[in-house]
Amino acid sequence: MSLGDHLAAVKKNIERAALKVNRNPADITLVAVSKTVDIEIIKAAYALGQIDFGENRVQALKPKSEALPQARWHLIGQLQTNKVKDVIGRACLIHSLDRWKLAEEIDRQARSRDILVPALVEINIVGEEQKAGMEPADVESFLDSIGQLKNIRLQGFMTMAPLLDDPEDARPVFRELSVLYQRLRTRRYENIDLRYLSMGMSQDYEVAVEEGANIIRVGTAIFQQ
Ligand SMILES: *Cc1c(COP(=O)(O)O)cnc(C)c1O
Repeated sequence: MSLGDHLAAVKKNIERAALKVNRNPADITLVAVSKTVDIEIIKAAYALGQIDFGENRVQALKPKSEALPQARWHLIGQLQTNKVKDVIGRACLIHSLDRWKLAEEIDRQARSRDILVPALVEINIVGEEQKAGMEPADVESFLDSIGQLKNIRLQGFMTMAPLLDDPEDARPVFRELSVLYQRLRTRRYENIDLRYLSMGMSQDYEVAVEEGANIIRVGTAIFQQ
């Protein structure tokens, strides 16, 4: 199958999953995770109508976004504070805000450039030691503190489910984050507007859509050979 076939198949699956739970497929943004492919393939995907791309490393996001600035670039991987300056103003959304120190640094850099930086809090639902992300129990007080950081625009939550044989096993993880998201959406701060739930990858994006994801991050299913 060609790149176009893979993209079309993923979109069809998103549509089917959305309709199954009475959601509008147009409300779901597909981020094509392009970390394993080079810029020529990304340009081919863009020519096919794919606009959002995700990279997990700043070192890759920088040159790729410079080569294709008309696309929308998402940073989905861990961010070190010393790389913040290379991401802000370049990524349309940082999915991996997972600690207070990082939030402070993003805010500081954003303020000095007089820009607003949209970000999602990455949350570690399963509590696996090796996984990045904040514990669900800490999210509420984090949101309270974020209110002080005026140059961050906190727009939602992101999570990664553990790799499991059966995508159904990811459902409780997605559901838990979805419940947290719905509960905290009523928060009112100048710089918090929870509207994105980024969850689901190649193995489990249909389940994620059924559980309320409105951004899904799919790599392998699109860019496989
Ligand atoms: C690589 C990656 C993805 C995409 O994974 P696939 O299994 O290739 O779809 C999604 N999210 C994050 C954070 C990733 O690093």
